[in-house]
Amino acid sequence: MERKLNFNAGPAALPGSVLQEAAAAVHEYKNTGLSILELPHRSKEFADIVAESKQLVKELCGLDDSYEVLWLQGGGRLQFCMVPMNFASEFLSAGYIDSGHWAEEASEYAAYYGDVQVLASSKEQKYNCLPAWPETVSQQLAYLHLTTNNTIYGTQWHKVPNAGVPLIADMSSDILSMQRDYTQYAMFYAAAQKNLGAAGTALAVIRKDMLKRIVRPVAPMLNYNEQVKQNSILNTANVFGVYTSLLMLRWTKEKGIVNIEQENRQKAGMLYDALDNSRIFTPYVMTKAHRSMMNVCFTAKTPEQEKAFVAMCEENNITGIKGHRSVGGFRVSLYNAIPVSSVATLVDIMKQFEALNA
Ligand SMILES: *Cc1c(COP(=O)(O)O)cnc(C)c1O
Repeated sequence: MERKLNFNAGPAALPGSVLQEAAAAVHEYKNTGLSILELPHRSKEFADIVAESKQLVKELCGLDDSYEVLWLQGGGRLQFCMVPMNFASEFLSAGYIDSGHWAEEASEYAAYYGDVQVLASSKEQKYNCLPAWPETVSQQLAYLHLTTNNTIYGTQWHKVPNAGVPLIADMSSDILSMQRDYTQYAMFYAAAQKNLGAAGTALAVIRKDMLKRIVRPVAPMLNYNEQVKQNSILNTANVFGVYTSLLMLRWTKEKGIVNIEQENRQKAGMLYDALDNSRIFTPYVMTKAHRSMMNVCFTAKTPEQEKAFVAMCEENNITGIKGHRSVGGFRVSLYNAIPVSSVATLVDIMKQFEALNA
């Protein structure tokens, strides 16, 4: 099979070596005579997969044993529910920073379970920048929720101030993409299908003291404390999904976060440079300090040009560049697995397109 240059926002491109190993495990997992798809979730083999993956998450995030690592199901959105279900109530408000579609949806889900205060929003700017960080944060809040990278609009918090209350972050689209102080967070979570593996799996990392703050009776499946007690196998685990995430974690460790960050900066730099100097394409986010290294959004001058550019990309084996339906135009996702060479090819096609059309 000829692999496409895949810039999809998620499920996103995975490294070829990870795909090969995952495929081999579907055939047979480690001389067990079983496919990974047949491997019991209560087997020694799966316990080893969970243990190694938890260890790698802690190591790559620089966390000690004061944090618990969980593999959960239901992707990012189930965490939009579980976070407020466990930690917020009518009498215990939760603060939300509304920096994009997913951030807003997280706050809307939270309103089913507790009082929600939106402390900052860039909705009026159509999320083409980050909102200003709130000047004061009530110390009564159960937590403050933010989305570190806004996948649909292409903005990213490169620095996050401390809030004085527990910080909880959705890191679905930029986890392990750069060096970051993860100890700032009382909890963070990520849907796996961007930097961490296959859709349907979610990583949740929780500081242990948070487990004492669960505000209401929550059924075991949705209760962080119960999930911790059962070591992520409360129900039939997503064995293949967790294994794929382990392969991604091993790949990430081998490459090293420092090198990954350097490449991510290089890739984003190449693309934003091309956009800033273009006579046809315009970047969606003009505030340079707010630009995402993971998702780069832009438009062309006319719908006809946009169609023609998509067609030219397709001819050149490039896929996944169409923007989200709420923004239009283009979105190029540059997650960890995207090689610098793919971005160089794309930039080259952009320049050819410009030479033909400007
Ligand atoms: C992709 C994404 C989600 C949604 O994840 P699902 O697994 O589809 O629920 C949530 N938040 C962010 C920031 C995302 O990028």
